[in-house]
Amino acid sequence: MGQLQERYKAYREPQKYIKAGVYPYFREITSKQGTEVEMDGHHVLMFGSNAYTGLTGDERVIKAAKDALDKYGSGCAGSRFLNGTLDLHVQLEKELATYINKDETLCFSTGFSVNQGVLAMVVGRGDYIICDDRDHASIVDGRRLSFAKQLHYKHNDMEDLEKVLKSLPYEAVKLIVVDGVFSMEGDLAKLPEIVALKHKYNCSVMVDEAHSLGVFGKDGRGICDHFGLTDEVDLIMGTFSKSFASIGGFIAADADTINYLRHTCRSYIFSASNTPAATAAALEALHIIQQEPERIEKLWNVTRYALHRFREEGFEIGDTESPIIPLYVHDVEKTFLVTKLAFEAGVFINPVIPPACAPQDTLVRMALMSTHTEEQVEKGVQILKKIFVDLGIIKS
Ligand code: PMP
Repeated sequence: MGQLQERYKAYREPQKYIKAGVYPYFREITSKQGTEVEMDGHHVLMFGSNAYTGLTGDERVIKAAKDALDKYGSGCAGSRFLNGTLDLHVQLEKELATYINKDETLCFSTGFSVNQGVLAMVVGRGDYIICDDRDHASIVDGRRLSFAKQLHYKHNDMEDLEKVLKSLPYEAVKLIVVDGVFSMEGDLAKLPEIVALKHKYNCSVMVDEAHSLGVFGKDGRGICDHFGLTDEVDLIMGTFSKSFASIGGFIAADADTINYLRHTCRSYIFSASNTPAATAAALEALHIIQQEPERIEKLWNVTRYALHRFREEGFEIGDTESPIIPLYVHDVEKTFLVTKLAFEAGVFINPVIPPACAPQDTLVRMALMSTHTEEQVEKGVQILKKIFVDLGIIKS
């Protein structure tokens, strides 16, 4: 047996949960990702999706993807740098720049590769990169790839951030990177305070809008727009894998920074461009989001209803201010058990355990879409209430 096989024979963590019948991952979906899905032979209410605008099954998005498939074929067979740039990619980049309100954007094949590629290149030796300690894994990986000195501060703790900034040379390039909406807990970055610190300590700021596009700001432009701070934020990152009903991501910034990234970003240059179908789907979703502001209105109505109902029923839901609702369990085994019992009762939710959260903060994560109804939410509340009470997590 080889070295690696010998080592990974000992990797038995998942088997423990499979044996106990509570392993919650890699379930197979056999339908579209709507508010109800077919999954592992069950018909379940989908409260684990990031498709906040509810556009993944939209006929117009599907038609745009099909038309692009017919016109351009199934793949681009090369990097944007060489043979992989379609007029569709360029159109999407231009429309996104107008939408986000920055000079230019660059589109990548995933949001993960945006953070990984941009952070690796945008700061370097002698610079500093400062992250919230709950930033997304793609930000963590990106900063690890950069040659900048890596620092972080306690989640949303502005005093701690200021302490870090105070200790750094005023003239040095310093980039603060934050999730606009934190993906597991649903709380927001304190952007006004972060921007004030940017000015006080001579820094730059990058915001990851993965969970805020299509949700916050005018026509879903995100958290920077919501706070009126788009001009103050240097780099804005977004993904197409959530509200934009597709796959891919982008970085938006001033023309000079984008020109630099276009010619240096390794995950942009040394990776094939996004497929025609995925690009066309994101473009169509961008159009619909702007044409139908009532979608976002509906998302917020159902979110407000759910926040109210979970609080009323005594769930611990932390500081969320978004369609992501964490239901705290504070125990890994019980978190898996809640997920399993909910699934069997017809509700799909995501378990969140370390490293996606602190060990003591395990939770199940509910996420809402514009297409959810209050009746569906109410059914979810009732089912989850019974499970949480039966397991002694909350009182009846
Ligand atoms: N940033 C955040 C905050 C995310 O939650 C995610 C995806 N879960 C990403 C980046 C990566 O995006 P993508 O799915 O497009 O790779």
